[in-house]
Amino acid sequence: MAVYGRNLSPPGFVPVAPVEGHWRYDYRHPTRFFWREDVARMVEELYARFGRNRIFVNTYHDHPEGYWRGTTSLDVWGPGGRDDPVHPYIGQQVFDFLFYYRGTPDIEWIIWRARMYGAWNGWYGEGFGYDQFTWHFDHVHVTYLGAQATEVRPGARPRL
Ligand SMILES: [Zn+2]
Repeated sequence: MAVYGRNLSPPGFVPVAPVEGHWRYDYRHPTRFFWREDVARMVEELYARFGRNRIFVNTYHDHPEGYWRGTTSLDVWGPGGRDDPVHPYIGQQVFDFLFYYRGTPDIEWIIWRARMYGAWNGWYGEGFGYDQFTWHFDHVHVTYLGAQATEVRPGARPRL
């Protein structure tokens, strides 16, 4: 059964192929903007609430590494793009919005400020990370439950 997704690529974005085995994480995991439909709606909701002058949302190929959850995961960065640290206050608001959101999609895990929250820890959170990148002080990560998007809905146009 098709699981529909949607491409929210910004104007002019050209996806590059992953470079397997490269020492740089972003070369192994190039940026993507293709999400499962319900996750794409969440991305739009984030922009509507926080504005493109405060946040930037992307996913990437094989996100996070080895998990292949690219269409059901998203990272929220500062407005400068992937790797631009989100303002801590905005990041906290983004985290709260996603964490307390009622309805679907349902979170499998969410990471912010060196804590990972999921059903297995009762949403209380547990320490996470071992370096600048994995601590997640500079971006919010969330992965949602369920299948990956495999197709674009016929006739759908990308919405920017
Ligand atoms: Zn992430």
